[in-house]
Amino acid sequence: MRRTRTACAAVPSIAANVSELTAATFALYFLPLAVIVLIYTLRRRRAESRYRQALVEAVEAGLTEPVSLHPVIDAAICVGSAGCVDACPEQALGIIGGKAQLISPAACIGHGACADACPVSAITLVFGSERRGVDIPMVNPDFETNIPGIFIAGELGGMGLIRKASEQGRQAIKSIARRPRSSAPLDVVIVGAGPAGLAAALGATELKLRYLVIDQEPDLGGAIFHFPRNKIAMTAPVDLPIIGRVEFSEVSKETLLAFWQDVVARTGLQISFGTRMDRLSQADGSFRIETNADVLHAGSVLLAIGRRGTPRKLEVPGEELSKVVYRLIDAEQYRGQRVLVVGGGDSAIEAALACAAEPGTTVTVAYRGEAFSRLKGKNRELIEAAGAAGRVDVRMKAETQRILPDAVELLVDGTPLTIGNDAVIVQAGGILPTTLLRDLGVTVETMYGTA
Ligand SMILES: Cc1cc2nc3c(=O)[nH]c(=O)nc-3n(C[C@H](O)[C@H](O)[C@H](O)COP(=O)(O)OP(=O)(O)OC[C@H]3O[C@@H](n4cnc5c(N)ncnc54)[C@H](O)[C@@H]3O)c2cc1C
Ligand code: SF4
Repeated sequence: MRRTRTACAAVPSIAANVSELTAATFALYFLPLAVIVLIYTLRRRRAESRYRQALVEAVEAGLTEPVSLHPVIDAAICVGSAGCVDACPEQALGIIGGKAQLISPAACIGHGACADACPVSAITLVFGSERRGVDIPMVNPDFETNIPGIFIAGELGGMGLIRKASEQGRQAIKSIARRPRSSAPLDVVIVGAGPAGLAAALGATELKLRYLVIDQEPDLGGAIFHFPRNKIAMTAPVDLPIIGRVEFSEVSKETLLAFWQDVVARTGLQISFGTRMDRLSQADGSFRIETNADVLHAGSVLLAIGRRGTPRKLEVPGEELSKVVYRLIDAEQYRGQRVLVVGGGDSAIEAALACAAEPGTTVTVAYRGEAFSRLKGKNRELIEAAGAAGRVDVRMKAETQRILPDAVELLVDGTPLTIGNDAVIVQAGGILPTTLLRDLGVTVETMYGTA
C-alpha cells in the first residue's frame, strides 16, 4: 500500500520530468534543426527565383541555344542535389522545381564539369539541339579528316577546353610527323594560335618539322585572348612538348597569356600573326594555303581554328583604313575620339558602352536592324539608358556606306548621314569555318542534340 502510494506520487513528477526533457530536447535539437531547414528552404527559394530570372533573361535575349557541347539533364533521374550547379564555373545551370536546368545555355562552354559532379549520372553531354544543329567535322583517331593530309584539332572538332585542345594539338602533330615527307617547302601549316595550334607548334619544333603557324589575329591565345579582362580560366594539368607538365588549375586570362608569350619567346615558335587563311586547295600532292599576305605550300595542314570563325567584314570602301578594327582591345585607347561601333549584338553594345565611359569619347552605334533583338537584358537596359542620356548616339536601320579618314558615311533609314569619325569598331559577327570545310570536301556531320 505504501509502495503503491509512493509510485502514484512519483507519476506526476516523472511526467513533469519527461515534459521538461521533451521541451529541452526540442529546444536543443529540433529548434535549431527547424531553423536550419527554414534557412535552407529560404535560400533555395531565393536561388530558384534567381535561376528563373536568368532563364527569363536568356529567353528574352534569344540566347537559348548552347554553342556546342552541353549537358542534357534527365529529369527522371535528377535528384536536385545542385552538385552540377556548384561545379559549373560559367553559372550556366540552376535548380528549378527541384531539377537541374540549363538556365544560361549560351554561357555553357562544354567543360563537362557538371556531368562529372552529378552524383546520380543524370547528365549526358551532347552536341547541338533539336532546333539548332552543330556542324562537327569528322576525324579519325589520328585527327585526320577524310581528306588525307588535312588534320583538325581543338574546338573545331567539337571538343573545346584549353586542356583538351592542347592535348589534341600535341597528338595531331605526332600523326602529321608520321606522314611521308612531301616536296613542298613546309611539312605543315598550322592554322590558329590558340591552345591547340600552340601545343602543335611545340610538337612540330620538338619533332623538327618544317612548319609555320598562321593566325588572323595580331596576338596569340585564340579564344583565351577574347576572355573578359581578369577572367579566371579553369583548366586541368596539361603535358606540352618541350615544356613538360603544366599544372594550372585556376588561372587568370592575363597569366595564361603571359605564360604562352614566355613559351613562344623561349622556344622561338614560328608564328605569323595577322595572317588569315582565305582559301585552301590541293595541288601537285601538297596543299596550297592562300592567305591575305601570301601563298604557302605544305605537305599537311592542321586546322586549329576553333569555332569563332573569321570576323564578318562590311565590304565597304575605306574598310582597309587602319582605324577600322574588328574587336575592342582597350577602350582607353579611344579616349577623346569619335568612335563608330557597327553591330547590334552584345559585343557591339559592350564595346560602345566601354568607349562611352571614356572621358571625351563620343560614340555612335550603327545597327542594320529595327530593334536590338538578341541582347542580354542588362546590356539592353544599359544601352537604352545611355541612348536616353545622350551618352551614345544609337542609329537603327543604319548601313555603313563608306569610311573616310576623318568621317563615315551612313544611310540611316534611307537618308544619307555623314558623321565625323576617328575610329570604327566592327562587331558584325563571324563567318564560321563550315563552308570552308565543306568546299574542301571534308565530311561534316550536323549533330542535333546527340551524344
Ligand atoms: C568566354 C569563354 C570562357 C571560356 N572559359 C574556359 C575555361 O575556363 N576553361 C577552359 O578550359 N576553356 C574555356 N573556354 C574554352 C576555350 O577557350 C577553348 O575551348 C579553347 O581556346 C579552344 O582552343 P582552340 O585552339 O581549339 O581554338 P581557339 O582558342 O578558338 O583558337 C583558334 C585560333 O584560330 C584563329 N583562326 C580562325 N580562323 C582562322 C583563319 N581563317 N586564318 C587564320 N587564323 C584563324 C583564331 O584567330 C584563333 O586565334 C572558354 C571559352 C569562352 C568563349
Ligand atoms: S558543360 Fe561546363 S559550362 Fe556547360 S553547364 Fe556543364 S559545367 Fe557548366
